[in-house]
Amino acid sequence: MKTLSCREAGFDCDHVVKGENEEEVMRNGGEHAMKVHGMKAEDITPEMKQKIRGLIRNA
Ligand SMILES: [Zn+2]
Repeated sequence: MKTLSCREAGFDCDHVVKGENEEEVMRNGGEHAMKVHGMKAEDITPEMKQKIRGLIRNA
């Protein structure tokens, strides 16, 4: 199981994104950011993805 704290990704939010692996966390995190934080797919840049990948933890 992998987790990602939404707050560490830069949002004022206590949500923790979970997934079986890194790809799933990235997908779930993208959905969460779009649904809850109003981000658009084009707002999520490769640089942002790279930064967020570095914040994923093993749980
Ligand atoms: Zn959030």
